[in-house]
Amino acid sequence: MHKKELSYREFGFGTRAIHSGQEPETMTGAIMTPIFQTSTYVQSSPGEHRGFEYARTQNPTRHALEDCVASLEKADFGIAFSSGCAAIATVLHTLGPGAHVISGDDIYGGTYRLFTQVLNDRNFDFSFVDFTNLEHIENAITEKTEMIWLESPTNPLLKLSDIKAIVEIASKHDIKVVVDNTFMSPYFQNPLTLGADMVLHSTTKYINGHSDVIGGIVVTNNEETAQKLHFLQKSIGAVPGPWDCWLVMRGIKTLHVRMRQHGTSAMRIAKWLEAHPKIESVVYPGLESHPQHELAKSQMSGFGGMITFFVKGGLPVARTMLEKVKIFALAESLGGVESLIEHPAIMTHASVPAEVRAEIGISDSLIRLSVGIEDIDDLMADLEQALS
Ligand SMILES: *Cc1c(COP(=O)(O)O)cnc(C)c1O
Repeated sequence: MHKKELSYREFGFGTRAIHSGQEPETMTGAIMTPIFQTSTYVQSSPGEHRGFEYARTQNPTRHALEDCVASLEKADFGIAFSSGCAAIATVLHTLGPGAHVISGDDIYGGTYRLFTQVLNDRNFDFSFVDFTNLEHIENAITEKTEMIWLESPTNPLLKLSDIKAIVEIASKHDIKVVVDNTFMSPYFQNPLTLGADMVLHSTTKYINGHSDVIGGIVVTNNEETAQKLHFLQKSIGAVPGPWDCWLVMRGIKTLHVRMRQHGTSAMRIAKWLEAHPKIESVVYPGLESHPQHELAKSQMSGFGGMITFFVKGGLPVARTMLEKVKIFALAESLGGVESLIEHPAIMTHASVPAEVRAEIGISDSLIRLSVGIEDIDDLMADLEQALS
């Protein structure tokens, strides 16, 4: 197992983003971590090796990425996967047979699909509740509850969960809390410092930030959990290739700069949309109108780059807007340098049944933006012409 090398107690986020886990290579002094594109390592005598036997289990490029993200999340251990979904599936394998999981009701569509269409049939049991009401969580706990799964802010409705308060409830019942922190990135929120047991990222999104890799990672401070995850990582084998790890590390070097711009631009667009006559309402944790704005200010250090809004006029107006944008690309995913726009009910959340969508508020007039880091005036002009 590997440990991060630059302590977050001593160094700032940007320094760790660029250096953590990435010592110059020892043979040549190459300043960038090489892509160790190998499946196996030579041994001098049977069982005598330098700590590297087979690349599903050990790869120096992957280790560098794991140490870097762990450091950014203020964690001791990082375990990387070939996708966010692979990371989620592996985390669920830390549970015993017949385990019960309480999950937020407004989660990533792929997570919902994995829980309800794959794991639900394999002896796991899930309850989906609205985490903005803590009583709902308490009421859902059974003797078999082993894990609480949450995203904060949620996708796509940007509802917040009070991570500290949920950890408090969970710890009374010996339940692990896992936070999917993809939307905030480690720059704006560090759930481990609020008491969470594991933090998960789809590195596909902000962490890589350039929309050219699929990847995932889990970080934790608990050595026993880390050992379990390493064991599952090599046993299940959903590991990322070294080339993808290298690309993600390259992306991370500008994570702090990108996140600041995502946050600044999203705030301006959110305020502008809120005042727009064709917009019914805007959901962005940085707006005072967000029902949990105070909680956002206390548990996050910024509000991120995701905005959700409801247009007046329902699907026809939403569809026209989505067809007319020129800079915003109509696409699933989020967190890249380029701006994206999408329709959750038809696109990312189509696997959530229509009744459930209606219940939690994913209506046909709902549009989600991933605000990129292009020139803000161009982005606003693009939205304006698409709305007019
Ligand atoms: C994209 C995403 C995932 C899944 O990650 P993949 O890398 O696409 O497998 C999980 N959670 C959230 C919040 C996401 O946005």
